[in-house]
Amino acid sequence: MHFGTKAIHAGQHPDAEAGAVMTPIYQTSTYVQKSPGDHKGFEYSRTQNPTRMALEKNLAALENGKYGLCFGSGMAAIDTLMRVFKPGDEIVATNDLYGGTYRLFTKVFAPMGYKFTFVDLGDLDAVKNAVNENTKMIWAETPTNPTMKIYDIRALAEIAKGVDSLLAVDNTFATPYFQTPLELGADLVMHSVTKYLAGHSDVVMGALVVKSDELAEKLYFLQNSCGAVPGPQDSFLVLRGIKTLHLRMQRHFENAEKIVAYLQGKKAIKNLYYPGLPSHPRHEVAKVQMRGFGGMISFDLHDNTMEAASKIVSNVKVFTLAESLGGVESLIGHPASMTHASIPSEERAKSGVTDSLIRLSVGVEDITDLIADLEQAFE
Ligand SMILES: *Cc1c(COP(=O)(O)O)cnc(C)c1O
Repeated sequence: MHFGTKAIHAGQHPDAEAGAVMTPIYQTSTYVQKSPGDHKGFEYSRTQNPTRMALEKNLAALENGKYGLCFGSGMAAIDTLMRVFKPGDEIVATNDLYGGTYRLFTKVFAPMGYKFTFVDLGDLDAVKNAVNENTKMIWAETPTNPTMKIYDIRALAEIAKGVDSLLAVDNTFATPYFQTPLELGADLVMHSVTKYLAGHSDVVMGALVVKSDELAEKLYFLQNSCGAVPGPQDSFLVLRGIKTLHLRMQRHFENAEKIVAYLQGKKAIKNLYYPGLPSHPRHEVAKVQMRGFGGMISFDLHDNTMEAASKIVSNVKVFTLAESLGGVESLIGHPASMTHASIPSEERAKSGVTDSLIRLSVGVEDITDLIADLEQAFE
């Protein structure tokens, strides 16, 4: 099956009870047993819930994995994954990391004795130097948030295999529509389902997708033991959102390309970050491992001050100034004071998150209105 067909059908079938075409919201915590242990495979909704399981199967199919697991948020997904490891284990992560992941690693797990090394995953020699026999996972985001760096998933997978470590990829920005890391050698894909997969800015959820039976078994044990599962109502909303994932991603991408072309003519802009630009330092890698470049764009200004950026982000009318991304509506953000405020300013600047950096999550509105809105904000 191809992507759009899987988005609509994978993991779902008409309900046995009434023939409902849409997966019902199984709003129940428990399930009947005829006699002790004699049941239909469902005992308690932390362990199994049919609505959540339909979504988990759908995500596994979209990522060309074997097993999907959903969690109450993207952070809960990473938190559960980290419990596969033990204190003393080492994780090599990109130095251009989603702020919440950086906080979880450095403020929650590092004090417990887990070791983290942050390197530029684009510098493969630096990655080879950073890994050793204690390395249990390489953690990559590509494209990264918010400076849209691209890392070579195949090359990282090879380095990870060399030291018997996992390669995990946060695929939130690209979505499986544009990039399927498991096919490029990654062992695990993580999603903030909150973003493009749910797609309507009305759900917070996370997911992990894997191929290996052994890793899946550990993760299912932890999902049930730690219990950070999403409810059936949210699972239903995401199943519905995913039915249009391919249509939305195509439009996000088309709109983003037109906005990039518009921004290229703006003299106030210093750096424009978009993996689809031939001038992007890893455009060639992006072309090989992605089927399109998505809807996220960042840029900073020659006038590199909070004030200059603030003027633009405060004057938009169609774009909304807000954290998050991936919804049908266009959002604008100022990472230094919003999503990346938890990263110290020197660390931030090292990865390009300057004071004037502005991030756009380009929605699926009419492109003429989006460009007119940016134009009046620049004025
Ligand atoms: C939002 C986000 C997360 C965290 O997910 P939540 O659902 O907010 O917990 C992780 N990685 C990336 C790239 C994100 O954008």
